[in-house]
Amino acid sequence: MAITKKRVLVTGGAGFLGSHLCERLLADGYTVLCVDNYFTGSKDNIGHLLGDPNFEAMRHDITFPLYVEVDEIFNLACPASPIHYQFDPVQTTKTSVVGAINMLGLAKRTRAKVFQASTSEVYGDPTISPQPETYRGNVNPLGPRACYDEGKRCAETLFFDYHRQHKTRVKVVRIFNTYGPRMHPQDGRVVSNFIIQALTGQDITLYGDGLQTRAFCYVDDLIEGFVRMMATGEDVTGPINLGNPHEITVRELAERVIAMTGASSRIVHQPLPQDDPLQRCPDITLARATLGWQPQVALEAGLGRTIAYFERLLALQKTARVPAEAG
Ligand code: NAD
Ligand code: UDP
Repeated sequence: MAITKKRVLVTGGAGFLGSHLCERLLADGYTVLCVDNYFTGSKDNIGHLLGDPNFEAMRHDITFPLYVEVDEIFNLACPASPIHYQFDPVQTTKTSVVGAINMLGLAKRTRAKVFQASTSEVYGDPTISPQPETYRGNVNPLGPRACYDEGKRCAETLFFDYHRQHKTRVKVVRIFNTYGPRMHPQDGRVVSNFIIQALTGQDITLYGDGLQTRAFCYVDDLIEGFVRMMATGEDVTGPINLGNPHEITVRELAERVIAMTGASSRIVHQPLPQDDPLQRCPDITLARATLGWQPQVALEAGLGRTIAYFERLLALQKTARVPAEAG
């Protein structure tokens, strides 16, 4: 008798994290349906998977209902960088809230397990550090980040209401700043910005005094956390923080990138965006205890791989431009 592979839906599968997750699930023997509207994601991110008979890509916006048959759902669809989620804030909130309702409805009908990519932004500009899952946050509901922060908070509410009301099997993780190959080169996130600026000899744009902190997790570590979370028993719903607890200032990150790339770039200061959190660092006690998980890739190693990725990308873009310029 043929053994049927588990069918997994990944929304936002053509994005940075989604494409790594699709790759990992295929390697683990699943059949993967990637759904994306390509707002911030790209077909290039999943091009290498298209020939795999266990992989299928579908253009779809999750603010509209989706009727498919699946065993597990990873709901990642949502722009994640401030410039992209603030570009069309109403659509961002719709993606988080209406998208969550649609994915939870799908999970209810198919009895699938459903995973939500929530965020450290639910803590807003935190007044305690590191942030444990019990911290209720300090979010400005009216500011420019609110479409994302409040959208994700409401999505969490929906996940736990579906769990209580309909016994839906939910898995909620709160992701802290993650970086690695396939980050969108123009999405303004700090790691990609600094690396591209350094590699192209531009000034490094440090917002504010650069003393705000973040803790950066390498993508492979995060995906391992996703897979472990989805594999937990029914009693584990989350929310669980996933991130690297090694906290540094944004200025230190700039200096590290300059040193690693050997760039001659200068650091220039630009205004700190409104509501930019002053500190962020995950308390991962719960992830360690529940998932036996903790990050393995040190910042130096992860930055090295990410710099190598952007070097290749910039070289490809340069070669692609040559014929046009020559012509
Ligand atoms: P990303 O922008 O690269 O990926 C998001 C993907 O969702 C893109 O492919 C985009 O085209 C797609 N998408 C957006 N709106 C959609 C819609 N309405 N319907 C279908 N597809 C849609 O971002 P990412 O960094 O890969 O983030 C993935 C998820 O993880 C997001 O939900 C984000 O909130 C969460 N997250 C990421 C980080 C991080 O550091 N990368 C941190 C916290 C949370
Ligand atoms: N930042 C910066 N220069 C940049 C991009 C970002 O100094 O070119 C800062 C930003 O103000 C924030 C931190 O880096 O304090 C992380 O920004 P990012 O947009 O990557 O993610 P956030 O954690 O704010 O969602």
